[in-house]
Amino acid sequence: MATQLASTYADLGLFIGGAWLGAEGRKTSPVINPATEEVIGQLPHATPADLDRALAAADQGFRVWRGVFPDQRGKILKRTADLIRERAEEIARIATMEAGKSIHETRIEVQMSANIFEWFAEEGRRAYGRVLPQRTPGTRLAVIKEPVGPVAAFAPWNFPIGNPARKIGAALGAGCSCIMKPAEETPASGLAVARCLVDAGLPPGVLSVVYGVPNDISTHLLASPIIRKVSFTGSIPVGKHLMKLAAEGMKRTTMELGGHAPVLVFDDVDVEKVLDACATAKYRNAGQVCVSPTRFYVHEKIYNRFVDGFATRAKNWTVGDGLDEKNKMGPLIHARRLAAIESLIEDAKNCGANVKAGGARLRSPGYFYAPTVLSDVPNKARIMNEEPFGPVAVINSFSDYDSVIQQANRLPYGLAAFAFTNSAHRAKLVGEQLEAGMVGVNTFAISVPESPFGGVKESGHGSEEGIEGLEACLVTKFISEA
Ligand code: NAD
Repeated sequence: MATQLASTYADLGLFIGGAWLGAEGRKTSPVINPATEEVIGQLPHATPADLDRALAAADQGFRVWRGVFPDQRGKILKRTADLIRERAEEIARIATMEAGKSIHETRIEVQMSANIFEWFAEEGRRAYGRVLPQRTPGTRLAVIKEPVGPVAAFAPWNFPIGNPARKIGAALGAGCSCIMKPAEETPASGLAVARCLVDAGLPPGVLSVVYGVPNDISTHLLASPIIRKVSFTGSIPVGKHLMKLAAEGMKRTTMELGGHAPVLVFDDVDVEKVLDACATAKYRNAGQVCVSPTRFYVHEKIYNRFVDGFATRAKNWTVGDGLDEKNKMGPLIHARRLAAIESLIEDAKNCGANVKAGGARLRSPGYFYAPTVLSDVPNKARIMNEEPFGPVAVINSFSDYDSVIQQANRLPYGLAAFAFTNSAHRAKLVGEQLEAGMVGVNTFAISVPESPFGGVKESGHGSEEGIEGLEACLVTKFISEA
């Protein structure tokens, strides 16, 4: 049923080949505000014929867009960034309504997304090749970079604006066309980004935005020879599944998958300051962040103080509807996530973990779970091995450097890792020894548009953003002229 909040929510649809399409007889699925559990919109699903139209548009759009000089492409992407900034408050509110995260966070995400488009606007013009020294007189040996081709991109709900921005920005900056499937949980944010691109002058067909049953869409798109690259952010099992589909057509992949980030806290730090940073990072988007700190390893000398300090902060964290400015944390995205967290905590308790704060659902309606702190959690607990993706800090103690490094690296994940220390020597060592694509030393800030974002081990491969993000959408061609 429509609600007062729903009246400010966006119209939903598909965007294919430059045309906005509504339900018009298509199957639809409800979009739910996770803070209220109310239906705020009906999302049309693309039919197989719609997907074929999107593929044809991407094929045609690629021919057009690759012929637009990078300088001109950059102007359109730069205008997109400006429009995102102009519409910041409206987009942030929409994202909060459908993703649940606090309005403070979605405002930051909007700015981050504009910065990403600006970065790719500029970096696209630096897709340099090189000229090699001759081995024979009168020859020219040139290495050039070309766009890889139409990209199929799949973004999750946890960064409903930022994730589409990263994927679309990289593809378009490199001269590729893109078929984007944002998450069905958060469709309006992806459409808002698309609207900015259209209003900035993006030619028809260069970008399409589709929704539906994720597996039906990815299977359909990846079976087409038109798609030359797949970019996915989400869970490891889905990433592996998509890589198998991509392998059939030898398509390039960028996989940004799950993590289980360790945080090493040594005994030489300012404990209160580090606690403030840790709680803020942990409860950001209710822990539904791929680089969320999950396993806190704290030196035994400061362990009890750290656990108590974390628990106090967790108990005082303001939780509620993300649209309410006073709330720092919103709900989880859907009932499935709530059930997953409940099951992980139950298992940890059965394995002997101590619940120092939270450990239960909060009020309903809404998929709220209390900011939680678990201490002394044995490695056999599932939460020590599976990505929690929820507002749970797991804190264990350590006594020596080598064993904590071994604990930090023991999982098959390798997305982010963090360490806090005042020792310059240790800071250098942890940066080198933690097995992760991104390491934060004395900071949780590990992502700017200029920096490569991506993991190692089962956390995926390839980078988004940075010069590596552009390179991932380019192919190398060697031209030998006699
Ligand atoms: P899920 O695995 O069902 O879905 C995760 C994302 O993948 C969603 O956006 C979904 O639309 C998409 N997806 C699922 N199957 C797909 C397919 N066959 N083809 C294309 N896209 C597909 O999980 P969920 O319950 O929505 O989210 C929970 C888990 O997902 C978490 O445990 C976490 O590991 C992972 N996740 C990771 C990130 C990240 O930033 N790396 C973001 C969101 C979710």
